[in-house]
Amino acid sequence: MGYKNVTVAGSGVLGYQIAFQTAFHGFNVTLYDINDEVLEKAKSKFDVLSEAFKNDLKATQEQLDATKLRLSYTSDLAEAVKDADLLVEAVPENPAIKTDFYNKLSKVAPEKTIFATNSSTLLPSQFADATGRPEKFVALHFANEIWKHNTGEVMKHARTSQKTFDDVLEFAKQIGMVALPIYKEQPGYIVNSLLVPLLNAAMNLWVNEVSDIETIDKTWMVATGAPIGPFGILDVVGITTAYNINKMEAEATQNPVKIKAVATLKEQFMDKGKLGISTGEGFYKYPNPAYKDKDFLK
Ligand code: NAD
Repeated sequence: MGYKNVTVAGSGVLGYQIAFQTAFHGFNVTLYDINDEVLEKAKSKFDVLSEAFKNDLKATQEQLDATKLRLSYTSDLAEAVKDADLLVEAVPENPAIKTDFYNKLSKVAPEKTIFATNSSTLLPSQFADATGRPEKFVALHFANEIWKHNTGEVMKHARTSQKTFDDVLEFAKQIGMVALPIYKEQPGYIVNSLLVPLLNAAMNLWVNEVSDIETIDKTWMVATGAPIGPFGILDVVGITTAYNINKMEAEATQNPVKIKAVATLKEQFMDKGKLGISTGEGFYKYPNPAYKDKDFLK
């Protein structure tokens, strides 16, 4: 295979991480965004990311300097993809924006360019026609803080070619991901297909007053040996995301447990600014959450 030039489209929460991770592993990376200010900001965000790479990966200053030299920036789509072997799309999670993006991209990208979407909740088949090259289109899904939580879920849609699938799996490995093949479309990939039901079940137990937060987490941790329970995970994910997911489900199903979960999350957490680790408090208080206490599991 041998991809050399990679374009990342969208320099938001995930896009700039993907760009930096890819450049760190030796690829030439072009970062594309419709917003020039965002691209300008990405450069200073890379300084913060560099510190994380030093702390978490023991990256050296030389490696980080070389990484920055392999990155270039543009808000001109045709320019951004003119030499691209692979384009990783991380534009907003909005079907209309993504469709419009692929329509425009398909007109300017060279024939060789493989497209990969990082969408968390939308299926690649939804955009396959807009890409104009369904066989060269696949999902490549990263987790937030990709240098640490290095899952690379590579998911086919019905028309993805085997070569595209194999090459993107290989690319995921080359940029330091644990490459995870997913042979057919699955909403939520593997991680969220496992995680969302667990977090939902924990919420239901709590909202139904079956047990309390710490007991539920403790049960999971003692029984499975996991270092964190569902409510600890919810603090990492962020209460806002949990609230949004529960709200959508409550509206769709009118399930009274979900309606109660939404109200509880709003009154006890959102309205009080307790949004999880990011604000120092969610279900637990940080930086020393109770579940990390040596006596928690006793
Ligand atoms: P974000 O809103 O932080 O960033 C999106 C970026 O895209 C912005 O910088 C915006 O200026 C830019 N943009 C908007 N329209 C564009 C266009 N037409 N062309 C190019 N750039 C455009 O979003 P995000 O959280 O980084 O999410 C991006 C994608 O990654 C989504 O599909 C999301 O599902 C996925 N994802 C997000 C996370 C996460 O934790 N945030 C995790 C995994 C996957």
